[in-house]
Amino acid sequence: MEQSEQFGGCACGKVRYKVSGSPTWTAGCCCRDCAKATGTPYVTWVGFPVSNVEFLQEQPAQKETSTGVLRGYCDTCGSSLTYGRDPKFDVSDPLLYVSAASLDDPDMFPPTEVVWYAQRPNWFELAGTIPLHDSVSPDQAERAYNSAKDRQ
Ligand SMILES: [Zn+2]
Ligand SMILES: [Zn+2]
Repeated sequence: MEQSEQFGGCACGKVRYKVSGSPTWTAGCCCRDCAKATGTPYVTWVGFPVSNVEFLQEQPAQKETSTGVLRGYCDTCGSSLTYGRDPKFDVSDPLLYVSAASLDDPDMFPPTEVVWYAQRPNWFELAGTIPLHDSVSPDQAERAYNSAKDRQ
């Protein structure tokens, strides 16, 4: 079966990427770190195995926004693009996440759940049918546990 490919990138077009196959995990995040990094109270992250994300022109600039967390952005237009763990510090979640909003087709991978909902501002409410977790989701915790176990 041919793997599906989707494309995305920043607002100015300097950073373009291709993602292959189906995402491992797609979730909305309302954490304060994402809010500070993106300037919005809600962002949807689409997580792929690192090898399924290919940058086609320039690599995104990266900033460590908390210990072991690398966020990718375009250093020309400032678009927030990716979230990932620095493998030097922590590979318990070895996915690279692209923001759903940066995909050329932002409808492609809808979130299946929302994490850190308790950290949203009081004036912000999500309506819908997907689970809203106050902190991490049970699936996320289990994946981190299994991945840590695999490395032992
Ligand atoms: Zn740009
Ligand atoms: Zn977050």
